[in-house]
Amino acid sequence: MPSSQGHHVRTRGRRRGRLQELPNMPLDIIFEVFSHMDPMSLLNLTRTTKAFRQLLLNRRTAATFWRNARGNVPSLPECPVYMSEPAFANLCFDSHCHKCLRSNIHNVSWAFRARYCRDCRPHMVVERLEAKDMLSQASVFHKNYDIYDLLISESGYGTGREVTNFHRPDLEALIVQWKDSGPDEQDKIHATQVALNRSMRENAQNCAMWQNLQKNLRSAEIDRLKTERYSEILHRLRETEWGEFIDSFPFIVERRLLAIDGVKRARPLSDRSWINLRERIFDGLERTRSALLPPPSRSTIINRIRLLSDVMHSLPPTAEEWIHLPTSIAEMDTLDAISRVRGTLVMTWRAEAFQRINDCDVQVEAA
Ligand SMILES: [Zn+2]
Repeated sequence: MPSSQGHHVRTRGRRRGRLQELPNMPLDIIFEVFSHMDPMSLLNLTRTTKAFRQLLLNRRTAATFWRNARGNVPSLPECPVYMSEPAFANLCFDSHCHKCLRSNIHNVSWAFRARYCRDCRPHMVVERLEAKDMLSQASVFHKNYDIYDLLISESGYGTGREVTNFHRPDLEALIVQWKDSGPDEQDKIHATQVALNRSMRENAQNCAMWQNLQKNLRSAEIDRLKTERYSEILHRLRETEWGEFIDSFPFIVERRLLAIDGVKRARPLSDRSWINLRERIFDGLERTRSALLPPPSRSTIINRIRLLSDVMHSLPPTAEEWIHLPTSIAEMDTLDAISRVRGTLVMTWRAEAFQRINDCDVQVEAA
């Protein structure tokens, strides 16, 4: 991801420059480039120049390009026979509302082969009773045909209850077709619609499953990125004075860190973002530590210093060795804790003393 607005603009500029050269390249190179593209990239190309539009919207010559592009998207269902490849690519990948072109519409109506925003959708669907009424007025039901054979339906919610909807363009097209045909032709229309609806239902199910798979994969990828970012933050914190604290209170620290703005992002942690983030993190940890470890009272401090002084004077190690004690000894508030350290110190001092004596022997022999 670009790290700054300026960088972002420059990158887009370079990309645009490269695309501009594409129409002037030899055909075999253009076709090679096509073979690595996904359907949305091909669709975007059709919108760049008239030449690309003519080349890629030609059903006969462009079929291979679109088929290859679909093959570059794992698990993407086949393009159904009742849709063109560009229309199918548009349905699967372009997030604009098919009615008003509003962007960022992720809810796809697979049965109706369309994306509609919240404002447009009520105008583009017809509830079952109204649909039946429209078909009756067009004399479609004079042979007792079932509406579910004639038109594909979809469940939806209307005024708090579940309803069955039909696609208005499908409904209106059927009525026009019906009115223009005689009784024999109407039987054929019925048979065609039954087969078409079966095919549409099957494709809609496959597409919905594919979309769910994409959502799950995306969700897993987001989780992975967040986990990696959090691990990197902990790794960097361990290199600071906070290392001991975060390992002593892992769950409390995790809760505090994840509540800090910028920690739970699905993005790798760059050096730059760490610089922006660390002061907020240090501040948060400081507040957590203050809440966990309230400052000791004056009498406790005096008592600790007195105990420390007593232990120091009764131990063989030198004052210099005391300097290398872990700083946490100042936070110890019981004689037991100090006694435990004392035992370790005596053993360490004794081992080092023996080592020094041995070293002296070796030096004497060598001399
Ligand atoms: Zn819309």
